[in-house]
Amino acid sequence: MSNENKSIHEFDFNLICEYFSSVERQGPGSPEVTIKALSFIDNLTNESRIADIGCGTGGQTMVLAQHAPGTITGIDLFPLFIDRFNSNAHKLNLQSRVKGIVGSMDNLPFRNEEFDLIWSEGAIYNIGFERGLNEWRRFLKTGGYIAVTEASWFTEERPVEINEFWMDAYPEIDTISNKVAQLQKAGYMPIATFILPENCWTEHFYVHQAAMQEAFLKKYAGNRTAEDLVANQRHEALLYAKYKEYYGYVFYIGKKI
Ligand code: SAM
Repeated sequence: MSNENKSIHEFDFNLICEYFSSVERQGPGSPEVTIKALSFIDNLTNESRIADIGCGTGGQTMVLAQHAPGTITGIDLFPLFIDRFNSNAHKLNLQSRVKGIVGSMDNLPFRNEEFDLIWSEGAIYNIGFERGLNEWRRFLKTGGYIAVTEASWFTEERPVEINEFWMDAYPEIDTISNKVAQLQKAGYMPIATFILPENCWTEHFYVHQAAMQEAFLKKYAGNRTAEDLVANQRHEALLYAKYKEYYGYVFYIGKKI
């Protein structure tokens, strides 16, 4: 089917998915950080059930599978990401323990108390941190863990430019202490909190994008969606370089009580 036959919406959607599926991760993070977060989780066995919500193409899921026992279900809204996820699992011979399914985090197809661990890197913001923590809790066994990364402020005050950017992008961004209080209020014991190092944003995220942006722009020369997408990502990378003292991603790990 030629592009002209597709609706604008479908074309834009596919284009954005194509852009992000061509990089290893769809958000900041790194194998080292996934392994560090996993070190706080006790009691996983071969029988354990793990969900990775908003898994994307599975960059962090495959690391989890290589360092934790049990079976993992990855779930993401975008079928193209899930296709890539399942082929990555096959390539690494993890297909018997790792399966990707298409679905939405606001309507999860899981049973109550099905999981020992819920993982979600850079994705809970899609429904909001507090809402996600509250709604996903019922899928965890008592004593099960939740481990999520979330954009957070590192200081009480910050420059207007970066404050306005985040108030527009994700007004639920908050200080680490306020996020921990939200985790506790949602019925989890706060187990650990740590800031993702800078290389999670640079060498594991923005550098990979920079390497493919020119080719992407050439392929979709004159296409407004492609140009806006690349311009936005470049703007975000510049803001990060300028204001990284003020914000970043934080891992929040809690235990259902
Ligand atoms: N966890 C991956 C990582 O760290 O590389 C992906 C993070 S990316 C910033 C956010 C992911 O959330 C995307 O893969 C996107 O498709 C997914 N997403 C957005 N809305 C969603 C929803 N309602 N349900 C499930 N996944 C969703």
